[in-house]
Amino acid sequence: MPSIRILSPDVASKIRAGEVIDRPAAVVKELVENAIDAGSRLVAVQVAANPERTIRVQDDGAGMSREDALLSLKRHATSKLASDSDLEAIRTLGFRGEALAAIAEVSRLTLSTRSADDLSGTQVEVLGGATLQVQGVGRAVGTTITVEDLFFNTPARLRFLKSREAESRVLSRVVWSYVLTYPAIHWRFKVEGKEDTDLPVAGDLLERWQILYGRNVAEGAEPFEHESGGVTVRGVLGAPEQARVNRDHQVVAVNGRVIVSPAVGAALRQGYGNLIPSDRNPMAVVSIEIDPSKIDVNVHPTKREVRFRDEARLFHAVRSSVENAMRRYVPVSMAGDAARAEGGPWGPHGGAGPRSGGPGGQGSGVAETFGVGTAVAQAEMDGLEVARALYAPPEGVPSEVREGDAETLRETLTESEIQIWQLHDRYLLAPIRGGLVIVDQHAAHERILYEEARERLYGEQSVSQHLLFPRVLDVAPDELDRLLLLEPHVRRLGYEVSLFGERQVAIRAVPASVPEDAAVGALQSLLARDESHLDSAGDPPEEHVAKTFACHAAVRSGQTLSLEERRALIDRLFATSLPHGDPHGRATYVRVSMEELDRRFGRR
Ligand code: ADP
Ligand code: MG
Repeated sequence: MPSIRILSPDVASKIRAGEVIDRPAAVVKELVENAIDAGSRLVAVQVAANPERTIRVQDDGAGMSREDALLSLKRHATSKLASDSDLEAIRTLGFRGEALAAIAEVSRLTLSTRSADDLSGTQVEVLGGATLQVQGVGRAVGTTITVEDLFFNTPARLRFLKSREAESRVLSRVVWSYVLTYPAIHWRFKVEGKEDTDLPVAGDLLERWQILYGRNVAEGAEPFEHESGGVTVRGVLGAPEQARVNRDHQVVAVNGRVIVSPAVGAALRQGYGNLIPSDRNPMAVVSIEIDPSKIDVNVHPTKREVRFRDEARLFHAVRSSVENAMRRYVPVSMAGDAARAEGGPWGPHGGAGPRSGGPGGQGSGVAETFGVGTAVAQAEMDGLEVARALYAPPEGVPSEVREGDAETLRETLTESEIQIWQLHDRYLLAPIRGGLVIVDQHAAHERILYEEARERLYGEQSVSQHLLFPRVLDVAPDELDRLLLLEPHVRRLGYEVSLFGERQVAIRAVPASVPEDAAVGALQSLLARDESHLDSAGDPPEEHVAKTFACHAAVRSGQTLSLEERRALIDRLFATSLPHGDPHGRATYVRVSMEELDRRFGRR
């Protein structure tokens, strides 16, 4: 490590106002960042139950000579920045040379350190910024900084602290963020009377994640990595069903610096799409590597925000990498796929079976259980056919032939011996390789119809079923206005609606994929603005139409489904691009692994 110099007034003036040490967590953050900058392999953080009493951070990094140890406690003393051109491309976490000085001014600080070049170490004791004692000590290479009685001489700041529990919580979050950002560092974290964690160097981030969060929570979490436009985004993404109410389980780091970034948080959230409810936040570690000249870390006093010179690109990089990773999360490997792949009535979906699984699925628990579907395979599927099997007879097919179809279908099912149970006319239960899925029939169908509606609305030709007898509806004036507004979209879906006198409209055709009554009901809801359970405020009209249609045309909870219908529903669900959630982000299914069952029954 280069030795410490005092920054020239010129450079110092370009640096944003001094480090703000406002609470114990800020002390820990600065000390931990210094330890990382010193190239440490081991960092141990030890805190009293009342964190302002004692905070100790010990590392095995480069350490300091006696001269540097004394300098390090002065303002604008840093080894990390030589000229202001360095300020353009900062690679270290520190650069202002102020943290140690700022901490030392408001506490009793003991610095003990030894560099590899020295035979013995140095210990400096400072009280409220005044040096009390400097002496030689025998110690290993590395640095230990102990901060006691924080804010003893600034009672105002002391008064602003929250309860010791709250302060400990914030402090722990800081430590865990770094623990998750640096799996190659051996961490120890001890909070008196509460926490005592030893985390040896982890093989990879996922391993650290599993140790930190425990097996249950970690299940389904996947590492990801994606490079685009010179930005590398990597980390771990928690399973959608583990999403949390708050963002406490999200860590965002840029070039190894843990930051707070609403933009990255939003991109992450968007990447999950509606796999998770809108009021939930995914668990994730998002580590961004970017050319340091493309960011400005000198924007915030505590350095917890950075400015991206091209925020749009960054946003895109994060969102698309998360979206990509989520695609792998599609479970398609239903038991008995073989029968379907051979072209039974649900033949088209064979394409999404495990044999066509995309790359990258092997090795992870989720992939083993479910196989991996590629976006391409899914795109090739014809949703309409299955939806038709779900409900409506194909047009123009005489009923005897349909009977025959049903026969073939039943045979296929018997052959493949798949059971799908319906529970209280609400949930479908099906065995899958490695466990069981429980599907919410309404939510699942909603997801299917939503994707299908979007396909129609944004391109593909719709297929209509013409009604033998047009259905005539009474409409209020405002409903009529809405119909005029939405008619082009509604037509794309497969409806044919025309005026029928002053206060009535005639529906002559409805989308082929749902039964007549459901289709008519959905249109009525759309006109009546029945959005009680929709969250589509601000959506473009197509999106609004798609969501309303899906929600109102989908099978209800409480509706009994035939075996064929259950099969079609599950098949089709797992062929959608985002089967995990309905369009509002509610879960469509829950999976239970054999491991979990075995665990619960005490088999392992
Ligand atoms: P900055 O990190 O911005 O340089 P600090 O006040 O945090 O400023 O630290 C001042 C200097 O003290 C650092 O530049 C570094 O040279 C030295 N230093 C601080 N902590 C350590 C440590 N744990 N190990 C080695 N050197 C350290
Ligand atoms: Mg520092």
